[in-house]
Amino acid sequence: MSDIEEHRKKIEEITLEMIKLLKTRTDIAKQIGDAKASLGMTVTDEEREDALRTQVAKLCKEIDLDQSTASKFLNLLLNESVKVQSDNKQTHLSMFLKAKALEEEGKKIIHLEVGEPDFKPPEEVKNALAEVYDKGYGKYGHAKGIPELRKALAVKENCSEENIMVCPGARFGVYLAITTLLNPGDEIIVIEPAWPAYKDCALNAGIKVRTIKTTLETKWEPSVEQINNVINENTKMIVLNYPNNPTGKMISENLLDNIMQTAKEHDLYVLSDEIYQDYTFMGLIDMKMEDYKKSIITKSFSKSYAMTGYRIGWVVAEPSIIDKMSKLQTLSLTNVSEPIQYVALKVWDVDPFENERKIKSRLEVLVKNAKDIGLEFIEPDGAMYLFAKTKYKDFDATKFSEKLLEHGVAIAPGEGFGDYKEFFRITAIDETRLIEGMKILDTVLKESYE
Ligand code: PMP
Repeated sequence: MSDIEEHRKKIEEITLEMIKLLKTRTDIAKQIGDAKASLGMTVTDEEREDALRTQVAKLCKEIDLDQSTASKFLNLLLNESVKVQSDNKQTHLSMFLKAKALEEEGKKIIHLEVGEPDFKPPEEVKNALAEVYDKGYGKYGHAKGIPELRKALAVKENCSEENIMVCPGARFGVYLAITTLLNPGDEIIVIEPAWPAYKDCALNAGIKVRTIKTTLETKWEPSVEQINNVINENTKMIVLNYPNNPTGKMISENLLDNIMQTAKEHDLYVLSDEIYQDYTFMGLIDMKMEDYKKSIITKSFSKSYAMTGYRIGWVVAEPSIIDKMSKLQTLSLTNVSEPIQYVALKVWDVDPFENERKIKSRLEVLVKNAKDIGLEFIEPDGAMYLFAKTKYKDFDATKFSEKLLEHGVAIAPGEGFGDYKEFFRITAIDETRLIEGMKILDTVLKESYE
């Protein structure tokens, strides 16, 4: 056998052995997952992961292996463990689906778990829908969006049309950014509690999530030190979402500056999800893409105009980033529905102030009710939610959410937003139903824990 053949044979054997070991590793991870689930523990244990990282780094030195390659490989293994253990997590979406199933059986449900405004889009939407057929919008079009809409968005974003890409909702923008800008084994920093899609998109693409846990006690504020502690050579992106879903927290200008400084020092992409930008009640902190070339800002018509089901949003970024993202958009969608882009264009002139006022007053009602029944939380600076816990020790919000659903009220369990099993999220819906829902919540809470 030639030398090459011999080496090839060895490589085959080693690869097959590695696959067998992967099977053993995955089986054990599953068993750990079952044990964690029965003990009510969260899936990711960052301390254990860090300890393993340190061991791998040490081994790399001993055997003279490139540490960056090894840690990327480790990240893939860690992600596999997270994937096999993540099946049972209850999120606002799973609660919503359960609530929907009950409604189909004829039960009445008060939806405090949903992430959408419960009022109608502006009348302009109706008119635009009536016009769109005759206007002839309805062909294949440019993947980045129809020029009229891109232009209109660029005017208010104070940037060039080249910096804008229309996409079917901010969710798709987030997906495109994470999937096209990062590679398997890279790392992304997510500040929790967080909307679950950042983590799930990363997991789906083989990207390792490093979470930063913020707490009620520190007013949901991350520290730059926490961020610095998780940055390493594989770190490529940090996600910001202010006003935040689920806490409603806004970030101070000073903290944002410091985070941006850190991102620049480490050459990280900054993915800033500003979908609640119009629902900010304490002065807006608008990330400016021109301040940092590696920022990607996602926005949407979903919340500001109550157009969640229309599926339309946009991304602001450097043209080179937009180009990368639009390639995957072309591949997967061809283009965003032209009629809906036309509707968005018409609605873009409508001031969302009325909706902001509505959401603000609903949040005030929610805050008052939540205080009256003794929930513990930080008053939201924006968005549409309250993220709260109770005074009861060992309170399990997932179990409570399921019990509450039996009484006709759906809430979003905190575990969907990170390691927050004792918290739940309530959406600010219309006053009458909100008050009714909060009354039932209070009664079920007292019946269960007093
Ligand atoms: N980002 C955040 C923080 C959200 O809460 C949501 C919706 N729940 C989205 C993005 C998705 O928005 P869209 O409907 O535009 O996809």
